[in-house]
Amino acid sequence: MDEDRRASGGLLLKNLKLASHSILESMNGRSPCPNCKASRKFYCYTCYVPVEELKDKVPQVKLPLKIDIIKHPKEIDGKSTAVHAGLISPNDVTIYTFPCIPDFESSEKVVLVFPSKDAVKLDDIFKVPKDDKKEGKEDDKKEGKEDDKKEGVKEQIDSSFTRVVFIDSTWNQSNQIFRDERLKGLPCIILNSRETCFWRTQKDKPNTYLATIEAIYYFLVDYHNLTHDDIPYDGRYDNLLYFYAFMYKVVEKSNEEKKHEGMENIRKRKRQDWEEKIRNKKLDNLDDVEKEKCKQNNDDSNKKAGSS
Ligand SMILES: [Zn+2]
Repeated sequence: MDEDRRASGGLLLKNLKLASHSILESMNGRSPCPNCKASRKFYCYTCYVPVEELKDKVPQVKLPLKIDIIKHPKEIDGKSTAVHAGLISPNDVTIYTFPCIPDFESSEKVVLVFPSKDAVKLDDIFKVPKDDKKEGKEDDKKEGKEDDKKEGVKEQIDSSFTRVVFIDSTWNQSNQIFRDERLKGLPCIILNSRETCFWRTQKDKPNTYLATIEAIYYFLVDYHNLTHDDIPYDGRYDNLLYFYAFMYKVVEKSNEEKKHEGMENIRKRKRQDWEEKIRNKKLDNLDDVEKEKCKQNNDDSNKKAGSS
């Protein structure tokens, strides 16, 4: 299962339109964060800024919407992929640490990406053209109770939303954030099911439980396809996965090396065992005549060496 996931993940990440990773590959060691001075490798995961050497060199992506990420305080900063979005789209992405949450203006149309029981698929929000909504509602009513419930939510989610909220945490923690009073009333969107490429998968969680940066990326790809009938998705948000794809590559390489090293060690041990066995066998089998022959050969070669 893990092998399969890695194989499909690698394929997706290999086909992205990404800026070159050569600068990341050339960087050795760590340097102080320009803000808090903590020792960091590529970026500071608490200040959401790159280290000095990477300043102005991280690819930047302009987003069609404002994105807020609410991080659970127990989510380990260094492991969170939310910071990638903050580094690559600093003008459009804001990261909050719960219990801090964004202060939404009443005029803003905000949606929350969370698989609540009333969540609606992005496709369904865009499927119903505004003018046909009333008509559609009549049709849906005939379909039964379940659709009635969804239709109620659908009415609240206008496709003209401009702000999207993501929760960055483990499954249990995200429920705690979701239940917060201040987020109540935000219409929820459920993402289309995709498999994660994440190398740190959560115990007992299906591989459709995405890393935050993957969720944001897929949301934007779907959003693009639903809002641009004429321009198929062209890779414009791929660089959001710039650090993610790089780290994936590093982890893959290290796994390969470990595997290779493990096999090398096994081979080496086997060879040593075998050589030892042969040596012992030879000594056991040598009879007096052979021992004499060996001695003779050695003497001859010594003489030759002496005469030259
Ligand atoms: Zn810092």
